[in-house]
Amino acid sequence: MHGTHGEFQKYASTRERHRDRRKREIDVSCFSDELARLETDPSGRRWLFVPYDQLSESIGPLSHEDPTELGIVLVENPWKAARRPYHRQKLALVLANLRHFAVEQAARGVAVRHVVARGPYRTALEPLIEELGPMRVMRPAEYELRTDLAPLTERGALVQLEHEGWLTTAEDFGASQKKGPPWRMDAFYRQVRRRSGLLMDNSKPIGGKYSFDVENRESWTGETPAPDPPVFEPDALTIEVAEMIGTHFAAHPGSIDLASLPASVDDAEVLWRWALEHCMPCFGTYEDAMSRASSGLFHTRISGLLNLHRLLPSRVVDDVVALDIPLASKEGFVRQVLGWREFVRHAHEATAGFRELPDGAPRRAERPGDGGWARWSGSTWTDESEGEFFDGGACPSALGAQQALPLSYWPGHPSGLACLDRVVEDVWREAWSHHITRLMVLSNIAALLDVSPRELTDWFWIAYVDAYDWVVEPNVLAMGTYGVGPLMTTKPYVSGAAYINRMSDYCAACAFNPKKDCPITNLYWAYLDRHRQAFADNPRMRLVLNSLARRSDSRLRTDGAVFEWVSSVLGEGGTLRPEQRLEIDDA
Ligand SMILES: Cc1cc2nc3c(=O)[nH]c(=O)nc-3n(C[C@H](O)[C@H](O)[C@H](O)COP(=O)(O)OP(=O)(O)OC[C@H]3O[C@@H](n4cnc5c(N)ncnc54)[C@H](O)[C@@H]3O)c2cc1C
Ligand code: SF4
Repeated sequence: MHGTHGEFQKYASTRERHRDRRKREIDVSCFSDELARLETDPSGRRWLFVPYDQLSESIGPLSHEDPTELGIVLVENPWKAARRPYHRQKLALVLANLRHFAVEQAARGVAVRHVVARGPYRTALEPLIEELGPMRVMRPAEYELRTDLAPLTERGALVQLEHEGWLTTAEDFGASQKKGPPWRMDAFYRQVRRRSGLLMDNSKPIGGKYSFDVENRESWTGETPAPDPPVFEPDALTIEVAEMIGTHFAAHPGSIDLASLPASVDDAEVLWRWALEHCMPCFGTYEDAMSRASSGLFHTRISGLLNLHRLLPSRVVDDVVALDIPLASKEGFVRQVLGWREFVRHAHEATAGFRELPDGAPRRAERPGDGGWARWSGSTWTDESEGEFFDGGACPSALGAQQALPLSYWPGHPSGLACLDRVVEDVWREAWSHHITRLMVLSNIAALLDVSPRELTDWFWIAYVDAYDWVVEPNVLAMGTYGVGPLMTTKPYVSGAAYINRMSDYCAACAFNPKKDCPITNLYWAYLDRHRQAFADNPRMRLVLNSLARRSDSRLRTDGAVFEWVSSVLGEGGTLRPEQRLEIDDA
């Protein structure tokens, strides 16, 4: 496994050395040569700022204006990269795609201005606007970037255009949530299915219902082999990015795996073709399954590219709708991209990233969180922004959860819970894991331990290639932890060992037995017991609260003692062992 604590010490000791070097120019030589070779006359162009996550020529002015009359500004920003200790694979994915995009556009005749910023994006754009004249930008997806650019957009120096990458509008969201908040994804999904006509037969959903979710809950035993993801051959541009990250971002955790890093538009095509052919036929069936034999099963792994717009949501949805595959798989995929993905971004935007909630404004973190990196590394993550600073996000915690994230979420501190250890290992190796591992292992265990929703969010933001504020915050603060209460989900997504055992093969490799002594089951009951008041009026929780009422006092005492034991051992970075709980069981 990469990125062990020992390895980290090595990174940390070189960090100081690299900090000085980072102040010098970032390595761009092979990339600059390539841009210089393709350079065209930039005079008389209309200029567009293309943020790091809008890398597509199929949306916005790049798709409908003459490339030889357009100029684009691309900003590489070590300041942004250093705001949090992001996984190196994530930095590599963003930078490699940005540089390939620059070259691809230059080859089309677009004038490309590539700059390296050392602070908020607006500080890089201001002098360029003075030099080149007013610029345009498609409305940024990230709240952080919108806030950064606000002084420029407000005075018209940067003209904001509609972001053409989204599939739905704020009106769709509003029309579907007339009674809300709280907001509900199923109502939004029905609305956008009807409005878009996707998977509709006149005004009726194809197959007679909007969701086939109940058919998509099989566990996987290997009878249909899970496909191996494609392997990419890095070119000189990608290798240069990886070397640059190794040198200038040496303190960042994780390691770079170039073979799984799609960087060019052709790589994106390869990944998507693989997903269409090998993943989609079984996508629905095994959507909720988890396995030691395959970290991704039939999930497409496209989220990193989708969020950078290297693949377009409209294109992937259309391609899947056109496939000859079971309707449950087709609909399952459409629900994720047209439904969940769009729903979460509307909820994020409607609440300014959960800074403004219907029942008030939660506390905001003063600085970006490090997701527990400092405790893990023994160092302090110092953001290198000079002067100007944005907040570190909202800190809602509807259930009052405030505990620190256990070190087991970082490399080198196995928890002894095979499910958690396996997924954490996958995440640090791949900077990715699929939906159910995120929800029912990582978030579930953190929620059961009353971990601070903000700290868990920051951890996800740091560790995953596809995490940006608009998508990671709703998924963790709302879905994963119930941090904003019932605002976006009817109930918390928590479970004991029975669910994990049913949907995975993790338990077979665990020192604990899911039917006898698995601490996760006790944690589940202890969680319900601690928060029973908060759930008392929730009709979706009535059944489990009735079961809780039938649980004996002695069992509840054991549940509480297991919670204390797990919190204390994992809080110190230790490993849980079955023999340690014998004392609790005997008491
Ligand atoms: C706790 C938690 C944190 C998450 N953090 C992120 C994140 O930072 N970035 C991110 O893109 N997704 C996030 N998700 C959603 C989802 O887990 C990932 O989009 C998905 O696992 C990516 O893998 P994939 O491309 O193989 O997805 P597939 O299973 O193949 O699904 C196809 C696509 O559907 C979209 N999708 C599915 N569910 C969601 C969702 N809930 N929200 C947004 N898009 C969705 C994604 O774009 C995904 O690529 C999170 C989910 C949870 C429960
Ligand atoms: S027995 Fe419990 S801890 Fe072990 S893998 Fe199964 S659910 Fe996870």
